[in-house]
Amino acid sequence: MAQLIEVKVPDIGDFDEVEVIELLVKPGDTIRTEQSLVTVESDKASMEIPSSAAGVVRELKVALGDKVSEGKVLLLIEPLPAEQAAPFAPGPIGATPARAEPPAAPAAPQAPAAPQAPRLLDAEAAPPAASSTTKPAAATAVVLPAAYSGPVDLECEMLVLGGGPGGYSAAFRAADLGMRTVLVERYPVLGGVCLNVGCIPSKALLHTAAVIEAARALAAHGVRFGEPEIDLDALRASKDKVVSRLNVGLAAMAKARKVELVRGSGSFLDPHHLRVELTVGSGQERSGEVRVIRFGQAIIAAGSQAVRLPFLPEDPRVVDSTGALALRSRPERMLVIGGGIIGLEMGTVYSTLGARLDVVEMSDGLMPGADRDLVRVWQKVNAGRFDRVMLGAKAVRAVAHDKGIRVWFEGADAPSEPQLYDLVLSAVGRSPNGARIGAAQAGVLVDERGFIAVDGQMRTNVPHVFAIGDLIGQPMLAHKAVHQGHVAAEAAAGHKRWFDARVIPSVAYTDPEIAWVGVTEDEAAAQGIKLGRAVFPWNASGRAIANGRDEGFTKLLFDEQTHRVVGGAIVGTHAGDLIGEIALAIEMGADAADIGGTIHPHPTLGESIGMAAEVFEGVCTDLMPARKP
Ligand code: FAD
Repeated sequence: MAQLIEVKVPDIGDFDEVEVIELLVKPGDTIRTEQSLVTVESDKASMEIPSSAAGVVRELKVALGDKVSEGKVLLLIEPLPAEQAAPFAPGPIGATPARAEPPAAPAAPQAPAAPQAPRLLDAEAAPPAASSTTKPAAATAVVLPAAYSGPVDLECEMLVLGGGPGGYSAAFRAADLGMRTVLVERYPVLGGVCLNVGCIPSKALLHTAAVIEAARALAAHGVRFGEPEIDLDALRASKDKVVSRLNVGLAAMAKARKVELVRGSGSFLDPHHLRVELTVGSGQERSGEVRVIRFGQAIIAAGSQAVRLPFLPEDPRVVDSTGALALRSRPERMLVIGGGIIGLEMGTVYSTLGARLDVVEMSDGLMPGADRDLVRVWQKVNAGRFDRVMLGAKAVRAVAHDKGIRVWFEGADAPSEPQLYDLVLSAVGRSPNGARIGAAQAGVLVDERGFIAVDGQMRTNVPHVFAIGDLIGQPMLAHKAVHQGHVAAEAAAGHKRWFDARVIPSVAYTDPEIAWVGVTEDEAAAQGIKLGRAVFPWNASGRAIANGRDEGFTKLLFDEQTHRVVGGAIVGTHAGDLIGEIALAIEMGADAADIGGTIHPHPTLGESIGMAAEVFEGVCTDLMPARKP
């Protein structure tokens, strides 16, 4: 047996005597460098400790509950033969002209011919630790990739597949860290779903809707406008202008960083080669040309796409969120299938433009994931938009007619007769693109739903291939993808960087907005966890009253023993802009006294966060005094 290596606790900053709360490997496991070994926890944070070497675990030197400090031996490993750990070294970038003929795809799965890192392909031996934000289903059997030996057009140190918020952020960070970076995107512009057909265009339209509603509400303040005249073409153009302004900005930022953009649809040939079918025009039209890129490391950021319900007919009046954002018509009657954030945001826009809404949701409440007390406020304000809110119900059949789309429903709240709509929006979720990029050829495991599992550094089971964003799991949010993109690029550059965010905020940009972060009350109740709760109602906020929007509230949830904030939620105008303060407080381990003792500017909606903390401490002077027992 080779001499055993001691893997020790590295420098973990100011922390001393941290407790081992999770063992992530066991004797007999084959581990790779930087693979997480144990999770430790201090009173401020938990973190995973990575391995400083690759090999087979022979003995664990710590047990659950042990207190460890820098230098403590965690385990003994038997090193792998040197040739199995040889890193890949890319040659210089040198593009050759694109070829019209695609190179032959590698032969059917077989034993790898001289793979660069054979141990890395043995998924059985080195299963990835699921990231904190990912809950992948069982992975399908791993296919060992054949090595590609054909011609290569382009070489780089870092390849990023997908130019959405995760992908471009990863590529920009990698380039800033000095890596020769290629970014492959099939569409002509960067920004992915979020910028082109998601976050940004929806918010541009929601802004218009909010201003229309605000103008209407001014009647109560003695200021009357006429009914708005809506020029749909101009509205669409103004939304498109917002998007293209940001597209231009991204292209300029890529150029300034010398990130090489390759326009085409990418698919892995093996763990170090990507085949790109070049695309042209405004969509994904193939040009017939192909490029092969050889890369040192890769970050997969291929995102997700809308789930399509099989019974819905092909008809321009049946749309997903992308179709709804195209604003082709102003329907009179609109059905939203799926009462989640995306469906209700788009429903808000169309309803402000004049549509009567029906919504059908399979679960027993709208906006699953948000606490019910928040949703109740939203629902009361928005009741007038809806003819029917069908909960615990589903659409089961739809037929296109001249006069509209006829839809049948099942469920307690559902009408027994089919209903006719001018527009049907299907917003029932998004499915990851993991199964559409030839990941198996790179040896990357993809589960049966198309998700790719990663460890805390965003590494897949093939350690030089990372994955981020929508295609590694919930929550499918742009800010999560961006954060993960930075982690992956920095880890790839050799930094000791992990995804260690405690919380990821969620926001519904409806009217009023609903935002929440950390533990929700419903989650705590389901897990039998008792939390301290404090609410500051906005009908006691001078600013909310001045705005004529005092229906909301700010809620903070605290650990009852430490008084540390563990969750928070806001329903009200600008809730999404306010929630960041609560996220920061949770990340910093702030307690109620810290938040209440922070001077917030007056009069602002943000004050309500400080006041909710004061409510918890029993020192709030902006509410009636608490009743004496
Ligand atoms: P994506 O944005 O999906 O980008 C993936 C990119 O990869 C795409 O550009 C795609 O063309 C490209 N690609 C895929 N396969 C290939 C291939 N084989 N070759 C080349 N290129 C490929 N999130 C928020 O945080 N806030 C919001 O307000 C918000 N609003 C939303 C509203 C709507 C209507 C929708 C649909 C989504 C919204 N989201 C929002 C979610 C957000 O858009 C996604 O979470 C985010 O875009 C995911 O980023 P990503 O980089 O993982 O993937």
